[in-house]
Amino acid sequence: MIPYPQMSSEEREAEYQHLLAQFEDLKAQNLKLNMARGKPGEDQLNLTRGIFDIMRSPEDYLSDGIEVRNYGEMTGLPAAKRLFAEVLGCREDQVFVGGNASLQLMYDTVAKGYTHGLLHSSRPWCKEEKLKWLCPAPGYDRHFKITESFGFELITVPMTDNGPDMDMVENAVKDPAVKGMWTVPKYSNPDGIVYSEETIRCIASLKPAAPDFLLMWDNAYCIHDLEDGCETLPDILTLCASYGNPDMVFEFASTSKITLPGAGISCFACSEDNMTYMKKLLDAQVISYDKVNQQRHVLYLKDKAHMIELMRKHAEILRPKFQCVLDALNQEIAPLNIASWRHPKGGYFVSLNAMPGTAKRTLVLCKEAGVTMTNAGATFPYGKDPQDSNIRIAPSFPSVNELKKAVSVLCVCLKLSALEKLNKQ
Ligand code: PMP
Repeated sequence: MIPYPQMSSEEREAEYQHLLAQFEDLKAQNLKLNMARGKPGEDQLNLTRGIFDIMRSPEDYLSDGIEVRNYGEMTGLPAAKRLFAEVLGCREDQVFVGGNASLQLMYDTVAKGYTHGLLHSSRPWCKEEKLKWLCPAPGYDRHFKITESFGFELITVPMTDNGPDMDMVENAVKDPAVKGMWTVPKYSNPDGIVYSEETIRCIASLKPAAPDFLLMWDNAYCIHDLEDGCETLPDILTLCASYGNPDMVFEFASTSKITLPGAGISCFACSEDNMTYMKKLLDAQVISYDKVNQQRHVLYLKDKAHMIELMRKHAEILRPKFQCVLDALNQEIAPLNIASWRHPKGGYFVSLNAMPGTAKRTLVLCKEAGVTMTNAGATFPYGKDPQDSNIRIAPSFPSVNELKKAVSVLCVCLKLSALEKLNKQ
């Protein structure tokens, strides 16, 4: 197959007509497929069926002598803190265990900066004239939406193979209006990039002008490897402290993609001083989170070794799905020189960069053929991809058979939109 950019206009026209016929066939199949959100499939949900009947005897309601059904232990069950501390490589007393969603804890941390100020704020952020936030992109749309909703100006930081462009970050944090940064250090959403040790050190040793700069370290995919023997990142709390920044970072994690999204448990981890400060604020907000669910998770997951075992089962289900997407792209798209993509070793996404100016059009065509994808642009601040190129593929939810269909639709749509673009040039 000749790469599209090298084809003559006659060859392109012939190819376009051939693809249009394929596209009409696909449309006639009335497909209804979804590769939009990074949701575990049903077979993954079924892996943890046992969690629902794990609490049977009266002693199951006691954890370290604490009655889990009653009020109290606002910061979470010690056993649940131990579990997260082991996974994250931090200390138990640095962990606060919350409810079913780490995103809620993230929102709440930003909200507390806004309404009350953080530990080192001279005033609440709402009293500042200008607020800015660093957003490595492509990134997670829900992160961007949180800081956008509080009126931060979102500053796009390009992603490199090693994580956010640190030259730009180091420069940007000289501005005291820059109050924080989103990060997903392992298997970043959507690129699947693992930040290099050098990048992580560079982040931990930042010297921001804002004394209350908040590093949001979203370790959502900390043990979500697709293969054995993947890297473990250094503990960011220790690292920040070693560079004199103990209070700069809040780390987040959850069991959403270990046990059940929507019914898992979440945590943040931070310095002792931050914990004391947050406890005071949270005390006005909540008596205790759902400790029954925390206990269910402690009994079911036991320890990191058991969690890794469970993650292997998730990986066995996910691997063929990722492979299915990558195989189709390698076969159908690679020879045409119209897109590039990464081969992630974990996480939930394949990030594809289509020919600039074609992502939106590709997804409109996908929709016409019954395949829903994450909106083009969603991976950038304000939902606007300046290149109109990035497409986030979420292979986890459909079955492999559905996925095969969905990816073949995507490939046809990528080709059609690339030819349309080339023909206009
Ligand atoms: N952070 C990232 C980077 C994610 O990709 C997701 C889920 N897609 C979340 C957080 C959501 O986590 P939770 O369910 O704990 O709110």
